[in-house]
Amino acid sequence: MRKRQVNSPRTPLYRDTGFELYDASTTAGSFTEESAHEREPEMYIYSRYRNPTVVAAEEEIMKLEGCEWALLTQSGMSAIDTAVSVFQNGKDTLPWLFFTEIYGGTISFIDSVLRKRRGVDIHTFSPVDGIYSMTDFEKTISRIKPSFVYAETISNPLLVVADIKEIIRISHKYGSKVIVDNTFATPLLLRPLDLGADIVVHSATKYLAGHGNITAGVICGNDNNLRKEMVEYRKFVGHMLSPDDAYRLNTQLKTFDLRVKQQCSNAAKLAVWMAGEKSIGTVYYPGLKSHKTHGTAVELLEHGYFGAMITFDFAGKNADEKRKKRDAFIAAVSDTIKLIPTLGDPHTILMPVEAVWGSKYPEPGMIRLSVGFENYDELFKTISDAINLL
Ligand code: PLP
Repeated sequence: MRKRQVNSPRTPLYRDTGFELYDASTTAGSFTEESAHEREPEMYIYSRYRNPTVVAAEEEIMKLEGCEWALLTQSGMSAIDTAVSVFQNGKDTLPWLFFTEIYGGTISFIDSVLRKRRGVDIHTFSPVDGIYSMTDFEKTISRIKPSFVYAETISNPLLVVADIKEIIRISHKYGSKVIVDNTFATPLLLRPLDLGADIVVHSATKYLAGHGNITAGVICGNDNNLRKEMVEYRKFVGHMLSPDDAYRLNTQLKTFDLRVKQQCSNAAKLAVWMAGEKSIGTVYYPGLKSHKTHGTAVELLEHGYFGAMITFDFAGKNADEKRKKRDAFIAAVSDTIKLIPTLGDPHTILMPVEAVWGSKYPEPGMIRLSVGFENYDELFKTISDAINLL
């Protein structure tokens, strides 16, 4: 029976585990040669290797990051694992250098997997007083000569904007590749590959999917040799995204631009207002002149946007009073602004910083807001009503 061709404008959801192969000799070639699908792009073999619905979503992300390839994985962490693991080369593995203001889960991955189980020689580089010194970075990298440097564009929760341009320039001078986690900035604000980065990773769970309903990751790049290594790693470790999630991600990516612009614009207005409020202590938002990396943010981030995350604390005589205000604020907004441990959702959500980071950040009572794309007036009313009660 002939297969029915349907004139759907979208790549359908192909849930097939395995695809129909022609004959014994092409089957043998498919399994032994990693590049089989490069010879015949329409030839699919097995969904853990490659799947047309996943490829369609990857092509959308390639347009956003302006890159030659993108590989989707089933979480941001599996994207990070894939991106770094291809640099592991048995006893010949060179040191790796990680900036310290990175996602806590990445730090746990470094400690529990890379150091403890794989024995990789990991080095770290920290900011001093909220800023990464590029002079110190050059001293560090020239001493360590790592195979790669890993940084985040905008850090969590203090929203430190790293000088990605300088990091790339200095790293390449010493022969190190650069891996950038661009989750917080998103490709709307910054495209690190355009600046010369070697690899970009995202927790696509966040702004790319943008609805708090998909867990996914993506690795983007231009270097075909790195792509081949990562395709192989994703396939053998089994990090491939499911076709169902890829289908929904592809649909949700269509509104990426609209969503993130609205989120950034809501956050900018809110941050300016919060910074003028008496009951609020410090507002950490790269769009404010008071933020330590405002200058870098203005230089690097595009379209006049500064992201949609705001971290703040409360004015108070002591830690106790600040924590009491935090708890009262969380209770007052709880009907609409929920305490949810993620970011990039449609609606504004919050996280108490100490509950996640303990005493890493000394200011007690801090809250991290992930500002959503809801109606600004409603958001403002919820937050200003809660603050007026304090
Ligand atoms: N990178 C950043 C900056 C993140 O914030 C997160 C998760 O919060 C991750 C990576 C990990 O992503 P996932 O939870 O999708 O594995």
